[in-house]
Amino acid sequence: MVSRIATYFSTRMPAAISRITVALGGHPEAAPDGGRPDAARKSRSKESHRVYVIRRSVALLLVAAATAMVIVLISSVVNGLQAQDPATRIQERSAASSERIRQGAVILKQAAPSPHAEGVLSEGQRSAIMVKAQEVARRSGKTLHGYHYCVSSTGDVGDIKVFESTVFKTLNSSLGWPRAGATFSYAASSGGSACDMTLILAQASAMKSFSDGCSEEYSCRVGNDVIINADRWTSGTPDWLKAGGSVERYRRLVINHEVGHRLGHLDNEASCTVAGGAAPVMQQQSVSLRGCSPNEWPLDSELWIA
Ligand SMILES: [Zn+2]
Repeated sequence: MVSRIATYFSTRMPAAISRITVALGGHPEAAPDGGRPDAARKSRSKESHRVYVIRRSVALLLVAAATAMVIVLISSVVNGLQAQDPATRIQERSAASSERIRQGAVILKQAAPSPHAEGVLSEGQRSAIMVKAQEVARRSGKTLHGYHYCVSSTGDVGDIKVFESTVFKTLNSSLGWPRAGATFSYAASSGGSACDMTLILAQASAMKSFSDGCSEEYSCRVGNDVIINADRWTSGTPDWLKAGGSVERYRRLVINHEVGHRLGHLDNEASCTVAGGAAPVMQQQSVSLRGCSPNEWPLDSELWIA
């Protein structure tokens, strides 16, 4: 753009210079000499030529200055327009990019494997939890026990992947039974000699099918079967919630409590020593907190395996 303007001026500059020169006084050769003698004419001609050169130089300077001003003016306008353009383009690119990110997020969300999105552990998470649990068990200084557990369900309780992941996380927590020397591996096959214990998520109405000693209201343990009542799994108990516990914590409590029976512990073998203190995990906290605080982890005094 600027170069086109420069070319335009350069082609028209000579004519402009001539016009300005004429305006400043004209070319001496164009002036009539009036038929004077040669010497005088020569002297006058020399003087006139010098004046002409000065005038032409002034004209040149004027045209050059005017041209420079016009070029600078037009350049700044053009640059202004160009500067505006990229800004607009950046805004457009930014908007397009945001849109792509938004669409990408939707695609990622759709592509994410749903089993891992809702509380189901990945293999990597399992490995990390197990490494930590084994370290805690080793440091406990107690006899090490490596249990293999299976999971199962009875009745209409839906998918049990989240149930199994919660079992794995809870049993291998560094706050839980690993402090008594126990770790728990998931044996994929259900039943048979591979399972030291089977954790079963059972519909409430099916609880009594395991033993007459089980009730539809709570969970229970029968031999190697640890049966978790699906109603309690879903909503905890009123007493527990009223005391400030949550359903999530209740799930850990019921797993640790019922597996505690499998490890040789009895109901209410201990209670909190001070009012408002943490309830032992083997206390029947589902029934009553007896003035203790909700607690889903075994106390120091409970860290033993029969
Ligand atoms: Zn119990």
